[in-house]
Amino acid sequence: LLSQGEIKFPGYLGTVKAKVHRDIERKLRTVTVSRMPDGRYYASLLVEDGLDSPEPSSEGKTIGLDLGLIDFAVTSDGSKYQNPRHLKKHELNLKRKQRKLSRKKDKTTNKRRKARIAVAKVHSKISRVRSDFLHKLSRKTVNENQVIVVENLAVKNMVKNHNLAKAISDAGWGMFCTMLKYKAEFDGKTYLEIGRFFPSSHLCSNTLLQIPKMDLCVRSFDCPRCNQRHDRDVNAAINIRNEGLRILALGISATALGRNVRPKRYGRKSTTVEAVAVELGSPRSICTQMNVG
Ligand SMILES: [Zn+2]
Repeated sequence: LLSQGEIKFPGYLGTVKAKVHRDIERKLRTVTVSRMPDGRYYASLLVEDGLDSPEPSSEGKTIGLDLGLIDFAVTSDGSKYQNPRHLKKHELNLKRKQRKLSRKKDKTTNKRRKARIAVAKVHSKISRVRSDFLHKLSRKTVNENQVIVVENLAVKNMVKNHNLAKAISDAGWGMFCTMLKYKAEFDGKTYLEIGRFFPSSHLCSNTLLQIPKMDLCVRSFDCPRCNQRHDRDVNAAINIRNEGLRILALGISATALGRNVRPKRYGRKSTTVEAVAVELGSPRSICTQMNVG
């Protein structure tokens, strides 16, 4: 089925030239071929490697991640990661090409077809730049930590705001969390999401003093109890990490007792925090790019 630089399909497709990104020694289970709007083909190969996923363990370093719009991710260690710089440039290019396409009214012309392909190409470029960034950041995060805690992305009340909702849907947080989750499971690490009602930005991470709501443009605050200036996002990430550790401790004792995790109350609001079960034995898939034609 698979040999140097090509994939052999049964049926009419026959042998297809392919860029295979890694050696596949084990039994192939399924192949899914998808066609991108810009004409590229991808084959996703599901391989049985005969290995069980390692038992998840939570012994080791725990990191909290606050995903945001100003920085893509801020960690409880104090690191801030921004979206790739050149993404903005491609997005401007996309807008330009989309305008050009919308000016071509006659649907049958060759010019319109070309404009449509040009739009698809930029789309594809953007999604490759973004997924490259997300893959690298999720890989680094999983490599350096044993437990990864992320705030659930039905993020707060931000989605009610239309402008923010658009930015949120573009940000790639969902894809990022999916990557963190499967990479963590693959390596026997623990991935945990914190419920959306956890007030990560409204607690001092040192003293748990409740901080009044701040506008999104307020990037740091002075805590009256510990007299420190807290960076808003790093403080939130630390709270997320601490909450993850708390849930993990509860979750382990709760599974041991065979009971559900009961949410703890924060102030007046009750929370719907629960531990996310770590699935075992997820099949491993390998993505391969093919050049068809
Ligand atoms: Zn404080």
